[in-house]
Amino acid sequence: MIFVMIAESDFLFFLMSPDLHYDLHAHSCVSDGVLTPTLLLERAASRQVDVLALTDHDDTRGLAEAAEAAARLGVRLVNGVEISVSWQKTTLHVVGLGIDPAHASLAEGLAAIRTGRRERAERIAVQLARFGVPDTLAGALRHAANPDLIGRMHFARDLVERGICKDVQSVFKRYLAKGRPGYVSHQWADMADAIGWIKASGGQAVLAHPGRYELGSGRLTQLLNEFRDAGGEAIEVVTGSHTPDQFIRFARLAREHGLLSSRGSDFHSPEEHWRDLGRLAKLPDICTPVWQNWSLA
Ligand code: AMP
Ligand code: MN
Ligand code: MN
Ligand code: MN
Repeated sequence: MIFVMIAESDFLFFLMSPDLHYDLHAHSCVSDGVLTPTLLLERAASRQVDVLALTDHDDTRGLAEAAEAAARLGVRLVNGVEISVSWQKTTLHVVGLGIDPAHASLAEGLAAIRTGRRERAERIAVQLARFGVPDTLAGALRHAANPDLIGRMHFARDLVERGICKDVQSVFKRYLAKGRPGYVSHQWADMADAIGWIKASGGQAVLAHPGRYELGSGRLTQLLNEFRDAGGEAIEVVTGSHTPDQFIRFARLAREHGLLSSRGSDFHSPEEHWRDLGRLAKLPDICTPVWQNWSLA
C-alpha cells in the first residue's frame, strides 16, 4: 500500500498540481504593501493561493515571518524580492524568486539600495513643498512600517489621508509619476548586478511587469536581449499591471527571446481590487512557466 506512506496533504498536493494557483509577486508592509507578512499569507490562504512569493521592494526582512505563517496555513512560500534597477534612463524592477536572503552579495546590494531611498525621499518632499504640498516627509514616514524602505507609495497614502487627492492613483498621476512635480530621478542598482546577486544566492531573475516601462519595440527588444544575456530567466506575462492583450503580447515575446513566463498579482493592499490575491488569469498555453522545474517541499 503505497498511499499510506504519503502524508495526506502531500497526496492532495500531488493530485491538484496541474491547477495550483501560483502568485509570484506580492508586497507586505516591509516595503509598500499594507499587510504584515502574516496577514498577507492569511489573505493568500483564504483566497486559494497555493504558492505565494513575497517580493518586497529591496528588502527581504519579511520572509522569516512569512515562512512561519505559510507553514501554519499550508501555503507554499517562495522567498522573493523585487529589486529596483536603473537601465539606461529607465527604472526597472527585477524580481528574484527562490533567493537566499542570507547570501552576502544579495544582502549587501539590497542594503546599499535602501540607503539611497531615504535621501531620495527627502528630495521628493522638497519637490512637493515647492509645488505647494509642504511637510510630506513625516507623513510618508508615518505610513512606512519599515523606515529603511520609504517609497513613493508612502507619500501617496499620506496625500490621500490629508485629502489632497482621492486615491493613490490620482496622487501618482498628479504628483509622483515620471514627469510630474514630485518625481525625482534616482540611480538604482545596475541590472547585471541585480541579476548577479539573485543568481549567486540561488534564485531566478524575472523581469517584472515589462508592459509598464513604456518602451518602444526597439528598446524593449534590446532590454529583453540584455536581460537574458545577463542571466535573466523569465518575464512576467500575467500580472496585475498588464491587460489581457498584453498577456498574449508578452507570452509571445518571452517565447521569441527564449525566456520563461511568470505570473504575479503585484498585490499591495486589499483596497486595490484589480490586483488582489487569488484572481490571476492562467498563463497562455504557449508559455513555459518559470516554475516548470520547481520541486515544492
Ligand atoms: P518607488 O520604488 O518608491 O519608486 O515606488 C514604486 C511603487 O510605487 C510601485 O511598486 C507601486 O507600488 C507604486 N506605483 C508606481 N506607479 C504607480 C501608479 N501609477 N499607480 C499606483 N501605484 C504606483
Ligand atoms: Mn510597490
Ligand atoms: Mn514593480
Ligand atoms: Mn511589485
